[in-house]
Amino acid sequence: MCTGAINTVGIMVNTLEETINKLKKEIASDSANILDSRALEAFRIKYLGEKSFLANQQKNIRNISKEERPLFGKLVNELKEYIVSVYDGEKSKVEDSELAKKISKEAFDITLPGIYQESGQEHPLSMVTNEIVDIFHGMGFTKVDGPEVETDFYNFTALNTPPDHPARDEQDTFYTNISPHVLLRSHTSTVQIRTLEKNPPPLRILAHGRVYRNEEINARKMPFFHQLEILAVEKNLTFANMKWVLNEFIREFFGKEIKTRFRPDFFPFTEPSAELDAQCPFCDGHGCTTCGNRGWLELLGCGMVDPNVLSAVNIDPKEWIGFAAGLGLERFTMLKYKIPDIRYFFTGDLRFSKQF
Ligand SMILES: [Zn+2]
Repeated sequence: MCTGAINTVGIMVNTLEETINKLKKEIASDSANILDSRALEAFRIKYLGEKSFLANQQKNIRNISKEERPLFGKLVNELKEYIVSVYDGEKSKVEDSELAKKISKEAFDITLPGIYQESGQEHPLSMVTNEIVDIFHGMGFTKVDGPEVETDFYNFTALNTPPDHPARDEQDTFYTNISPHVLLRSHTSTVQIRTLEKNPPPLRILAHGRVYRNEEINARKMPFFHQLEILAVEKNLTFANMKWVLNEFIREFFGKEIKTRFRPDFFPFTEPSAELDAQCPFCDGHGCTTCGNRGWLELLGCGMVDPNVLSAVNIDPKEWIGFAAGLGLERFTMLKYKIPDIRYFFTGDLRFSKQF
């Protein structure tokens, strides 16, 4: 068997070169007929597959005598390189032609002009929000966040709002169908409670975000808008401290000294409470369309934190005193840029945003 194999192999080595030359002619003629990926795959199986002549010779190499093995191996390797190079060449031709077919099918016209992507613009509401946040940052207020879906505890109960208060009514507040106690927050004061629960005073915080109220849509009102609130809880705070902070804010925001007045008002969570009016910075109090000829603008609500609110979060109201103020960000943006209708904010129309 062993000597027989040597003889056979000896013949094979002698004739291998001749066989390979014949095979190359066959490969050339077959490759000329490759027009698609299916024919390409058939070619690969025939010449590079497990049962191909090449694979058989690669297996056979171990039966070749040591003397002849280098020559045999060289011929087999050269054959392999030849087939692979033909295959690769055909493969890229097939890929190109299939891509060309696909492109012509999609009628893709590369000479067509592109679609212009218009660049965005910071929303005026964001611009004014950032400006106000910066002013309060400068006075030591740190930004905190809270959820928009809240429970009635955080939105009302902890904020000293009695169960029969009209604000709790479905006429004013959006309740969810998750539970009768789960609602969309109607103010950002909820964040004050959540922060006070976890952080002991002294603190100065600022929260802003979207709030929801069951309002009819018109030029002044939307069922959602954006609020910004500040809260300070420290020892020995007074109403005068709050007045200074708010007057300073108004001066910085409008860029000039402006007369303000604090009118007594009522909010369940502050006592005493006040509404801050500023002399109209656009007409210096003489009367214009922005102030409705009154010479004054109502800007925000404020007050000293009601002791009940502090008690609700286990802070001793005999030791700690707080003040809080809240403002509507749309209102400030409308004033600053003389925007006549709140609905413009929510159109997503770049023609609006790009004016600022
Ligand atoms: Zn005015």
